Amino acid sequence: MSISERQANIRIVLVNTTHPGNIGGAARAMKNMGLAELYLVQPREYPAPRAVWRAAGARDVLAGATIVESVDEAIADCALVVGTSARERRIPWPLLNPRECGEKIYSEAAEHKTALLFGREDRGLTNDELQKCHYHVHIPSNPDYSSLNLATAVQVLAYEVRMASLADDQGNLPSLSEWDQPPVTAGDLEFFHEHLATTMAELQFYDPENPKQLLTRMRRLFNRVRMDQMEVSILRGLLSAVQRKITK
Ligand code: SAH
Repeated sequence: MSISERQANIRIVLVNTTHPGNIGGAARAMKNMGLAELYLVQPREYPAPRAVWRAAGARDVLAGATIVESVDEAIADCALVVGTSARERRIPWPLLNPRECGEKIYSEAAEHKTALLFGREDRGLTNDELQKCHYHVHIPSNPDYSSLNLATAVQVLAYEVRMASLADDQGNLPSLSEWDQPPVTAGDLEFFHEHLATTMAELQFYDPENPKQLLTRMRRLFNRVRMDQMEVSILRGLLSAVQRKITK
């Protein structure tokens, strides 16, 4: 299958999947919609014959999958990360509906790597994982029975990316606004948050023994802003200057 550079910038990440059949089903859903970049974070049982069987004609997507140890590793080079959720969470987060999600992923994939995170069959994504995301997307299912099968959820969201690509072929999609700096990647943003937490602790502004929601709120704030690389290096320089003063 020939995959465009833009499609190669769209990564589907399956976190701690239990059933190998779902991995195969997700690979098939992706290939049907023209996607191929599959990352598996610590799959419970993989490789597995059932995954190959469910992938049917998408064995190439399965064979090309990258297996990693952590979500951080899976998204480190991505500048847009969207997390899926089968239900509402305690702290509200910027939300996209599936259509907006398809358009955003497709349009930003012209510029940088993007990732769509899918959770465990039984528990979804953890709060920690969801807090690494710029946006959350929920497929508006029946509130009384809201959780789709994992591969089915991949299908729905991959379809929306496909629809966005077809609309773009007809010139309907607004293009990304120009910016003078590239956006920060998830990996560099993670270093920034560690630096921020350490500095706040050294300042005794934040007690690591009693964290409350401070770090969550900081993550939500900076994810809303979508900082560029220059802004992050300025802030890290500022944090280092604060650290030098207080440890003197
Ligand atoms: N009981 C779990 C359900 C997980 S379903 C929970 O409440 O979180 C497994 C995965 O399928 C989810 O992590 C998500 O990636 C995807 N998924 C299922 N239903 C979804 C929905 N309505 N919208 C978005 N993603 C969904």
